Amino acid sequence: TLKYTPVEEIPSIIDKGKKFYRARQLALSHEKNPRKADLQFRVRQLQKLYYSVKDHQDAIIDAMMKDFHRSPQETFALELIPLINDILLMIKLLPKWIKPTKINDWAVPFICSNVQVEKIARGLTLVVSPFNFPLLLAMTPVANAIAGGNSVILKPSELTPHVAQLIETIVKDAELPDGLISFVQGAIPETTKLLENGDIDMIFYTGSPKVGSIVASAAGKNLIPCVLELGGKSPVFVTENFKMSNLKVALRRLFFGGFSNSGQLCVRPDYILVHESHYDQFTQQAKTILNEFFPQLDKNTEFTHMISKAAYERTMNKIGDTKGHPYFPQAFINEQSKDSDNEENLFIPPTLICDVDWDDSIMQEENFAPVLPILKYDDLDEVIDKVLKYHDTPLVQYIFSSSQADINHILSRVRSGDCVINETIIHVGIQEAPFGGIGFSGYGNYGGKHGFDAFTHERTIFKQPFWMDFTLAMRYPPYSAKKTKL
Ligand code: NAD
Repeated sequence: TLKYTPVEEIPSIIDKGKKFYRARQLALSHEKNPRKADLQFRVRQLQKLYYSVKDHQDAIIDAMMKDFHRSPQETFALELIPLINDILLMIKLLPKWIKPTKINDWAVPFICSNVQVEKIARGLTLVVSPFNFPLLLAMTPVANAIAGGNSVILKPSELTPHVAQLIETIVKDAELPDGLISFVQGAIPETTKLLENGDIDMIFYTGSPKVGSIVASAAGKNLIPCVLELGGKSPVFVTENFKMSNLKVALRRLFFGGFSNSGQLCVRPDYILVHESHYDQFTQQAKTILNEFFPQLDKNTEFTHMISKAAYERTMNKIGDTKGHPYFPQAFINEQSKDSDNEENLFIPPTLICDVDWDDSIMQEENFAPVLPILKYDDLDEVIDKVLKYHDTPLVQYIFSSSQADINHILSRVRSGDCVINETIIHVGIQEAPFGGIGFSGYGNYGGKHGFDAFTHERTIFKQPFWMDFTLAMRYPPYSAKKTKL
């Protein structure tokens, strides 16, 4: 079991992080070329982190398996590779990102000035991460914090205890300076203690909208800026103009997005809206592809399990209560008669739910589970109205269509964090694209340079020579009507 940090020790951990940041700034102030020394320091720490992550690859795959039977392939492809790529990109591009930018303003007061914008560290930052990608969603923001010149406290998810512990080992083995990355392990009381503290300079939170609101309220008391990476119900539109010759590929992409990590993915397609002209063929072909994807489904199958009994029960209740028609892969139906320990293993098979209505229990909250409701619609504007009424501002919207007019139509009516056309979820791997929500799916973003930007403040430095004051003399009193005339 994970050893939680005693709540009474948390203020001293915060103090240590803050002192580390201040001591580094002091040390840099004595450097001949502080920016160069700082860049070298940051890159060195990121390199050490990179090697330590690589050194622990097998242990990472192992810990994920222990925590929620996470498929090794998913850990490798969706967690390890993106993290390694993220850190490598930071190492490569930090020299460019860190450079101040020059501003030329030809208005008279600034014509001889030197104006630069530099990116300064925010100070001591806090990263609070969720369970579903417990390494990537903890360590990419932590690496961003280091790239930005901050010290950082990480509060990993308590729901993945083996990974939470392993991250501490990875950081310890990276042999970073003491105080650069600190840990608080635990759940609500420990996070609450962190959120109460006014010495933290920025919070990067990834998790549910409900807790996101708690985090933002606590941060607001001390005016601490936040980035909130939240979730929500991301819709999929399959429009009338979708070319059905692409149906097979579309379904494969949808199931990859919908069932990876057992549906425990913030960007996953949560429900599918299919135009009535395609509905029958769509659902029929969907069942075929589901069986192709999962020819075998028992406890040894590489299929990630639910994170907790609560998540398992919540999903099973929804499947039990739906007025739609659940469809399980044939292999599961065959296996089910032999094997009854699914509940004990928190295993839920990938499930389609056809003929779903908007008032169905499965359409209320983010599912975050391997269930995909399919709804039929006949009018695009009417179905958009429903999306706006029930689940405005999703993290992502997915559009499967061959018509640019349809795509433009949906894009201009539905706001979302991101929009993906004819594909699912892999857009999060586009390294230099900003990633983040809007409205209830959060605010702020990261990804490539955007992560560096999130963890820094843009400071304008304006330097004025004395000799050119005669050009500005008119601003000084005494004022007169002559001076005011345009
Ligand atoms: P969660 O909100 O339950 O927990 C996230 C973190 O907050 C954990 O570290 C947890 O210990 C802490 N926490 C929980 N309750 C708290 C409270 N009352 N006060 C203070 N801290 C508290 O989220 P989860 O179940 O781990 O993750 C799933 C959610 O995260 C989904 O909604 C998903 O969409 C979202 N998510 C978003 C992104 C994104 O990048 N936008 C990525 C992954 C997950």
